[in-house]
Amino acid sequence: MDLTLNSASSQMGLHRATVAEINISTLRKNFKSMRELLKPGVETMAVVKADAYGHGVIPCATALVEEGVDALGIGIIEEGILLREQGIQVPIQVLGGIFPEEIDDLIRHNLTTTLCTLELAKTLAIRAEKLNTRVGVHIKINTGMSRLGVSPDQAIDFIEQVRSLKTLRIDSLFTHFSTADEAVPDFTRKQLQEFENVIGKLVSSKGSIPKIHAANSSALLKFPESQFNLVRPGILLYGALTSPDLEPYRKVLEQQKTGFQPVMQWKTRIININEIPVGSALSYGRQFTTRKQSRIATLPVGYADGLQRSLSGKIEVLVRGARAPQVGSICMDLCLIDVTEVPSVREGDEVVLFGTQGKETIRIEELAVQGNTVPYEIMCCIGKRVPRVYI
Ligand SMILES: *Cc1c(COP(=O)(O)O)cnc(C)c1O
Repeated sequence: MDLTLNSASSQMGLHRATVAEINISTLRKNFKSMRELLKPGVETMAVVKADAYGHGVIPCATALVEEGVDALGIGIIEEGILLREQGIQVPIQVLGGIFPEEIDDLIRHNLTTTLCTLELAKTLAIRAEKLNTRVGVHIKINTGMSRLGVSPDQAIDFIEQVRSLKTLRIDSLFTHFSTADEAVPDFTRKQLQEFENVIGKLVSSKGSIPKIHAANSSALLKFPESQFNLVRPGILLYGALTSPDLEPYRKVLEQQKTGFQPVMQWKTRIININEIPVGSALSYGRQFTTRKQSRIATLPVGYADGLQRSLSGKIEVLVRGARAPQVGSICMDLCLIDVTEVPSVREGDEVVLFGTQGKETIRIEELAVQGNTVPYEIMCCIGKRVPRVYI
């Protein structure tokens, strides 16, 4: 049995059996592998939004800074303030942008923001002038995602106007892909073309912008031409992809020396085992009925920990190095697994929800497929009451 879990938790004074084990040296290796994919001179903004995709932003950001990351990307300003308070000094971009009320915090903490409207640009400029400083902004071009950004045909005019605001500093021009992970490359190519058109016009107008960026993890793997001079990988650093089908990525992954490994493993332990007679309907709603005399084990993990109820009856877990099906409705704090076919299971045994045990591995992408979602959501929804244990 793997004892890391127990020893790591007791070291930290944590006793919860359900933990997310985070391997920071794997994160470092993934970062190095990612860098091997970059053309010379291309910099990296590691995306650490949503608590580093559930991995814990401070340990992850600290390791990435030690590895030489050039900048960090976050979703909301609070995440940037936290990083600054913890002493992280690299440039930080609030990818999701800010509201006017957040300008003072942005300036005070030396953060930079995505910029999409002239109103915000002007308000920022006036405030920066009052505080006798300059604020870094990143102009976003909407090439198809249609969340944030200036439309390509208004881009040059917008950039000129922002340039005229002397207390603003245009740090970068960027866009974001909506289907870089999909098999058909057409729409990504179209987005890239729109973005390149804007860059082309910019070059023929005047002055350059220091950083140009577009590539998320999937684009970094599949569209090397989208690297420009900065990339913004997130999920790849945490060792996951958007689907368990690695085929589209195989070529580039095979060139890797170290490859990308999952940083997080989700583990728990059996709290109770019951012999249940044939024909018994289990858990809330009696959704699963035993077809024979069964051994049912209870796990102290439920949807309040991020094990989505919609996964009920669809997933498997690892126990004693074998796969066992989860059965019945997942409850708030507990769920059930059928261990009838797994020999010599005991209360207290380690159970892996995703990760490796013995020779078996369950990838987070597998859970995502079963839950009709993406690995991103599973990772970042692992709840606050699940301790992150760093190994
Ligand atoms: C989240 C995010 C990324 C990172 O995406 P991954 O698919 O995790 O690599 C990059 N850029 C922006 C704007 C994002 O919001």
